[in-house]
Amino acid sequence: MTPPAETKPRTTAVMLPLPLGGTYDYRVPASMDLNDGDFVAVPFGPRRTIGVVWGEALGDVPDARLKDVIGRLDAPPLPEIMRRFVDWVARYTVSAPGAVLKMAMSVPDALTPPKPVTAYAPHPDPADFKKTKARERVLKVLQEGPPRPAAELAREAGTSPGVVKSLTEAGVLMPVTMAPDVSGSGPEPDWSTPGPELSEDQSKAAVSLEKATETGGFSVTLLDGVPGSGKTEVYFQAVAEALKQDGQVLVLLPEIALSAQWLARFWKRFGGAPVEWHSDLTPAKRRDTWRAVAEGRTRVVVGARSALFLPFPNLKLIVADEEHDASFKQEDGVIYNARDMAVVRAQLGEIPIILASATPALETVLNVESGRYKSLHLHDRHGDAALPDVDTIDMRAEKTPSQCWISPTLQDALKKTFADGEQAMLFLNRRGYAPLTLCRTCGHRLQCPRCTAWLVEHRRGGRLQCHHCGYHASQPQQCPECENEDTFAACGPGVERLAEEVESLFPDIRTVVAASDTITGPDAAASLVRRIEDHDVDLIIGTQIVAKGYHFPLLTLVGAVDADLGLTGGDLRAAERTHQLLYQVAGRAGRGERPGRVLLQTYMPDHPVMQALKAGGRDQFLTAEADGRRMAAMPPFGRLAALIVSGTDESAVDAAATRLGYTRPVGDTVMVLGPAPAPMALLRGKHRRRLLLKTARDVNIQALIRDWLARAKVPKKTRVQVDIDPYSFL
Ligand code: ADP
Ligand code: ZN
Repeated sequence: MTPPAETKPRTTAVMLPLPLGGTYDYRVPASMDLNDGDFVAVPFGPRRTIGVVWGEALGDVPDARLKDVIGRLDAPPLPEIMRRFVDWVARYTVSAPGAVLKMAMSVPDALTPPKPVTAYAPHPDPADFKKTKARERVLKVLQEGPPRPAAELAREAGTSPGVVKSLTEAGVLMPVTMAPDVSGSGPEPDWSTPGPELSEDQSKAAVSLEKATETGGFSVTLLDGVPGSGKTEVYFQAVAEALKQDGQVLVLLPEIALSAQWLARFWKRFGGAPVEWHSDLTPAKRRDTWRAVAEGRTRVVVGARSALFLPFPNLKLIVADEEHDASFKQEDGVIYNARDMAVVRAQLGEIPIILASATPALETVLNVESGRYKSLHLHDRHGDAALPDVDTIDMRAEKTPSQCWISPTLQDALKKTFADGEQAMLFLNRRGYAPLTLCRTCGHRLQCPRCTAWLVEHRRGGRLQCHHCGYHASQPQQCPECENEDTFAACGPGVERLAEEVESLFPDIRTVVAASDTITGPDAAASLVRRIEDHDVDLIIGTQIVAKGYHFPLLTLVGAVDADLGLTGGDLRAAERTHQLLYQVAGRAGRGERPGRVLLQTYMPDHPVMQALKAGGRDQFLTAEADGRRMAAMPPFGRLAALIVSGTDESAVDAAATRLGYTRPVGDTVMVLGPAPAPMALLRGKHRRRLLLKTARDVNIQALIRDWLARAKVPKKTRVQVDIDPYSFL
């Protein structure tokens, strides 16, 4: 008789969250029961690592070399939609799926159940004990509240945990095991709390969004309305509907850390807080939040772009607020646009997504025109607030003294605003004191040693700083080039320097400088907002961090100090983005009962961007932009991708870039520009070369790139980053 055929081992593919990783085959021990999406521990080389069960094994490893899955983790499985999402994003961005999975497993600690907590409760049958003041205080605290951990009890009783311990040993208290509190603090948002009474326009839009949420199914709706028209109130109605359906909701906001006003409004509307997700969270908060989302306990998450990769098992609605915002684009690691990927996530989940903006992206507007997206319009500002008057100030005609940046016309307007007891904002998208420091004798410019960038003077911090890599230095006494002493001069203004000018023009005015280095984190932002709301501040000098979203009723004048700033440089979206930014800034003026005024200082008053802002011609401007892009076959009419080759060894980078150039894809509808030094040819000490691939719209650009990279065989010493539909042309 022949022996029975050896049975094939049970195998499975496991995806590992590694920057270059994908799936690997493992053997499943007979005693183990695994399903797709389960988190498992597996051996990987000499290490043990955590991955996700990802369908059938590839079968490319001989049985003898297969390793066993070590064990299953006690965590909810990664939902199927998330697994498809990971694969999708990896394919679209031409990244390793492991790199994308890493974003979806950003908190490995959350994969083990939270440890139970030992709390202390009064013993039901307490022994006699020696009384001390501290002991009595502990017992009093317990009388008034639930059992608590020793440290917490001690803190509340104003004593040390040792007292709790000795009371336990004396048989007066006893330890009890409690589930850890991961739900966060405070009440849950309540969908049934009534919202404000909506205007006719608002209510029409709200009903439509509610209906889409109630019916479910994939849909994209642009919620388009001027700043202050009530977009937030309107989409809150859809949020309420999703909560009513017992679903989870994700609201994506740019610059979440600074959205104190948004959080306050949510609280007011729903009587509870949403859960926040952004880079400023403590590790403990991250772990609890991730787990609570995975277990479906967290209902509303408001977050930055990375919130898109949270493992929602029951997501019913996505909102991307300020959908046009460039900060939705992640520029490191896996390069993706969270707004676009959110649409994909909604499609996979068969749920609605709302894109809200007063200045929708050109792509979005064209998707509405082609019928792919729906749109809803809010035509007027809420209440009696009118849109501000926008005027340009022709800087060529103004007699502004040298080393001064506030024109006489803008000065007059500021004077009048302060005299009327109102607030003003000066917008200048430049941090620090001066963007450039140069030697008056030889013209030498102080540059970052690690980047192709000038050092920016921060006078408050007393140093020169690189805004790209964090390098800083104090200002040298002597010019490194001509060796003369004390010859350095600051060139051009940053917000700090503007504050100095204001100080000399209006010595009695209370000014605050709001930039990412002066307002750091949610608390600072909240306190800034409070000071402005309480009228403790007359003038806000700010960068883009104060440009959007905020609602300050007393703010009636906005001055853009250098409205032309964003228009230079080779950026495809320069005009569109400048228009959006200035339009948003302008939207801060006159949101209360008093009318607002906006003044744009420009050397190009005839530029289409300035004209559109002045005449309120957003749609004409977008049409003209669209025509320009159509003619140049630029996105969204054609496809564009950037390949950035980088590394510390310049000649290796050059060689790799040249090789990519030789193996470039060819064809009638394909064009490759470069390799050329990237505009930032040196960044954080790495040399960079760039190739731009431009194709017709119907070309599968990802397939083309994958094939190209496979043929080019880029050497290990260099790295190639793929940026599909680049926003940054640095
Ligand atoms: P947007 O998001 O379009 O800029 P908001 O939703 O922030 O507009 O609304 C601007 C201001 O008007 C907010 O203070 C908001 O609370 C208020 N508001 C909007 N709609 C209503 C309404 N129907 N009833 C009461 N207040 C409203
Ligand atoms: Zn630098």
